[in-house]
Amino acid sequence: MKYGIEQQGFLLKCSNCQNIVSKNGDLQKNFCEECGAPLSVTAIADYEQQKEETKKLLLNTMKDIAIKNNTDSFTKIIKIMIEEY
Ligand SMILES: [Zn+2]
Repeated sequence: MKYGIEQQGFLLKCSNCQNIVSKNGDLQKNFCEECGAPLSVTAIADYEQQKEETKKLLLNTMKDIAIKNNTDSFTKIIKIMIEEY
């Protein structure tokens, strides 16, 4: 997903879906109401941070499953995750 805004004069568009998010150059929304992409710098930072935390959590969960089930097979780990979570 692309995020942030594209500016054409006073027209601000969502970088991801090209939805017009402002017509007067003033960005009032943090997220695009069309596709949900973060638009403002704060929203983008939050999004990036959440993405990193989710990635860490997922990797830790996968590591736990691998240890618990004594397997390094990615396919097996995914199968166990689907069954257990
Ligand atoms: Zn959008």
